[in-house]
Amino acid sequence: MNFCPICGKGIANAKEQFDHFHEHTPEEIQQYEAKVKEREKEFRDAQINRENIFFKRGPNFSKIYATEWAISLTDLDVRIDILNERRNHPPNPLFPNKNPPVEFIIENQIISPIISAKTLHIRLGELIQMYENKNGEIPIRP
Ligand SMILES: [Zn+2]
Repeated sequence: MNFCPICGKGIANAKEQFDHFHEHTPEEIQQYEAKVKEREKEFRDAQINRENIFFKRGPNFSKIYATEWAISLTDLDVRIDILNERRNHPPNPLFPNKNPPVEFIIENQIISPIISAKTLHIRLGELIQMYENKNGEIPIRP
């Protein structure tokens, strides 16, 4: 479930969001679009002036340990399932030659606009490149 960014009404998908937008006045839509443009500008400025940014843990801060990810794309955003525990199930007796099922437990999910996901991709790439330059190539699990 997603929510209309103007009024907060529950929206099932991008088409429903598009149809619902017509229920808002042109002024409301204009105000919303201006707000989005302003946020995008702030975001771009923040990318340029990174030395002015600092991070502080909020009151609900928590840590999640992750060893695997499941990534998917919806109409509106990127979803990253955070996986840690896995359970190996015995092979199905009817199909003994098939690989036994492996169950991953989804601990949490990150939902992100694709523009922010791209920033994550770039920053993470830079960090891994820096690490590998110093320590050698990180082997990838099959
Ligand atoms: Zn609305």
